[in-house]
Amino acid sequence: MILECVDKDAQYQIANRLKRMGFDTTFHGTNGVAVIYGLDDLVREDLFHVLPGVKRVIPIKEKQKLASRKSVGRRTVIEIQGRKVGGNSDPFIIAGPCSIESEEQIFSSAKIAKENGAHALRGGAFKPRTSPYEFQGMGLKGLEMLSKVGKEFDLLTVTEVLDLESIHLAAPLIDILQVGARNMQNFELLKQLGKVKNPILLKRGFAASYQDLLYAAEYLIAHGNPNVILCERGIRTFETYTRNTLDLNAVPSLQELTHLPILIDPSHGTGRRSLVLPMARAGIAAGADGIIVEIHPNPDQALTDAQQTIGPEVFRRLMKEVLAIHQAFIKE
Ligand code: PEP
Ligand code: MN
Repeated sequence: MILECVDKDAQYQIANRLKRMGFDTTFHGTNGVAVIYGLDDLVREDLFHVLPGVKRVIPIKEKQKLASRKSVGRRTVIEIQGRKVGGNSDPFIIAGPCSIESEEQIFSSAKIAKENGAHALRGGAFKPRTSPYEFQGMGLKGLEMLSKVGKEFDLLTVTEVLDLESIHLAAPLIDILQVGARNMQNFELLKQLGKVKNPILLKRGFAASYQDLLYAAEYLIAHGNPNVILCERGIRTFETYTRNTLDLNAVPSLQELTHLPILIDPSHGTGRRSLVLPMARAGIAAGADGIIVEIHPNPDQALTDAQQTIGPEVFRRLMKEVLAIHQAFIKE
């Protein structure tokens, strides 16, 4: 269950009190919110109401507590410098190359993104490559280019971090930090990202269940960072035609299970340029809160993920169609 306390001090007092009462399963969360595990089936919630300093008691039977839909009761809207992600907001669109390759390349990508109405510019500077012999990214130089171009075009910026060093380099320069599929269960990385102010884009691991993804989100929130955006980017199945299988079930399922916004990634979710537009449409039709998509001024020349990267023309069409599909929804 979740105990919402009047302040941090009350939370501390109550945690100690519960410890004395023999409940040593107390976990300290953020901002006066304490999570107590393993008690929902054992203890009546009204026992906790009477403790001094307790504002609210939310019994939650699900394994995820702070990430569960029940903890908030509605869908969270994350506001990043005036742009809204989640809830009933317009689809949040992140576009850009898989990797930052040069100043000209990231500039042209930003221009295409901005001209067509994207909100954020993506670009990898630290690339988690399957082979050690492949391009590993431009590192700090790349981050500086992304940051500069993002400001020039008034686009939010998104980049992946891999470890403590890349967090320290990226956090001051880049708006949204991405946790990639390969690191979704790197719990030490998640704990470190709990300490930063930047919102986190948390990608689902390719063999991770919804529960695994929600536990990863729970790590971030419990360690201090409530601004978590989930991303379905495809999972491994027996199918070999596509790189991954974009699991569209994830969108409405996660919206039942959690209050956090969810984006889809039709680029990694398919691995094929020709499938990006149809699956972007499908993701928005399923109710996704937005899209992250790989674009490049010359997709065939992209140093990484060229086969799934779309060019300016397809992106223009994607943006138009995605907004039209979103507008067809009945607002409740
Ligand atoms: C990426 O966004 O370029 C990336 C590596 O994604 P994922 O972690 O989903 O494979
Ligand atoms: Mn990529």
